[in-house]
Amino acid sequence: RAGDTQSTTPENDDRGGRLIAPEKFQGVNTNVPDETQDCLFCRIVKRDIPAKVVYDDADALAFEDLNPQAPTHILVIPRKHLVSLAGAAREDEKLLGRLHTIAAELARDRGLDKTGYRTVINNGTGAGQSVFHIHVHLLGGRAFHWPPG
Ligand code: 5GP
Ligand code: ZN
Repeated sequence: RAGDTQSTTPENDDRGGRLIAPEKFQGVNTNVPDETQDCLFCRIVKRDIPAKVVYDDADALAFEDLNPQAPTHILVIPRKHLVSLAGAAREDEKLLGRLHTIAAELARDRGLDKTGYRTVINNGTGAGQSVFHIHVHLLGGRAFHWPPG
């Protein structure tokens, strides 16, 4: 379904950058500013600002990181504006799983499954999150150490 940016599904009905239902955040400290009005990654989804898109379907998008931390550094994001795992709901489980299978497909395409690769989600400022639209980092092409910094 590459390039099929016009189709709709229940998961992407609110792709316009609206925060997911506020009741889902009650009692949850998402530890983030409210950027829903001007979300950078929602703007990439809407193609308002350019990105090197490497995968695109009705639910998700993947593009090259602007400031790569490894020879391969791709961000996989949902079209739906979800801030982080902290704000995710049970209804988002399928979508969150899909982000990871897309990362695995991209890794396989690039032969990274042979050497190993890393997938990371930073949740909250203390963990290094700087864009508050959830994204899976796919990093590969070099050695990785544990624990991460
Ligand atoms: P975080 O720190 O939130 O886990 O990751 C955000 C990532 O987004 C960073 O790796 C950063 O380099 C990347 N990034 C920030 N702004 C842009 C942008 O405008 N375009 C692209 N392609 N990547 C960006
Ligand atoms: Zn967003």
